[in-house]
Order: sequence, then C-alpha cells, then structure tokens
Amino acid sequence: MTAVSVSGGCLCGQVRFTVKGPLREVLLCHCSQCRKTSGHFWAASSAPRECVDIHQDTGLRWFQSSKEARRGFCSLCGSSLFWSHAGKQTLSFAAGALDGPTGLSTGAHIFFDDASDYYRVHPDENTIDGSSY
Ligand SMILES: [Zn+2]
Ligand SMILES: [Zn+2]
Repeated sequence: MTAVSVSGGCLCGQVRFTVKGPLREVLLCHCSQCRKTSGHFWAASSAPRECVDIHQDTGLRWFQSSKEARRGFCSLCGSSLFWSHAGKQTLSFAAGALDGPTGLSTGAHIFFDDASDYYRVHPDENTIDGSSY
C-alpha cells in the first residue's frame, strides 16, 4: 500500500477519475471475463470506494458482468476502466488507465488457471489459481 494521489481516465477523456489514499498493488487477472473485456488479461489496482472520485463521467456506462459484479467502461471510446463487486468496499480500476508514473508495482497473476494458451509469464512471477483478494 502506497499513499498517493493519482489520476486516470479513458482514451477519449470523457471519463476521468482521481484516486487519493492507499492504492493496492496491481493484480493481473486471467479469468475469462477479464480477458474478454480487456482483450488480454486485466491489470487493475484498487482503493476504498470513497477514495475514488469519478469527476468526469460523460462516457461512463456500467455492464452487469455477473450476478455480483459490474464493469465500468467508456461508451464513447470503449476503454475498460472499472470493476465493482457488490460485496466489496473497494473499487478496482485499470492500471493502464492511470496517468503515469503510478508508483505501483505488480503483485500477482490471479485466476491463472483460467489463462488462455497463447501467452506465458516469466517463471519468477507469482501466479495464483483463483483469488483470495
Ligand atoms: Zn472515452
Ligand atoms: Zn478477472
């Protein structure tokens, strides 16, 4: 956890947000839903919901991607931006959407048992089947 203030947004700028406070390390999720929505695997940090201020939401739309989770994206440019689980007090946001430098580092690959077959990760990297996060 690092106390920082970072901003981020979508490709066209019609969704912008600022995160103040501790940001979780980046997790790389290989589950099939994350692969579909991102086009590869999904790299996300997260923070307590009250620390994430979505101050420009003109393009923001939410897709109910499972019974408990919604994904926020920009309806104008297509950027995948948020993952929100009804049972969690945190909001996940795309690490790639943050304006750099972020000061973050990557913690682990999660749901690695769900990874597709066209890529490999470095053997030194931490891979987890499923997720305890
Ligand atoms: Zn956009
Ligand atoms: Zn996932």
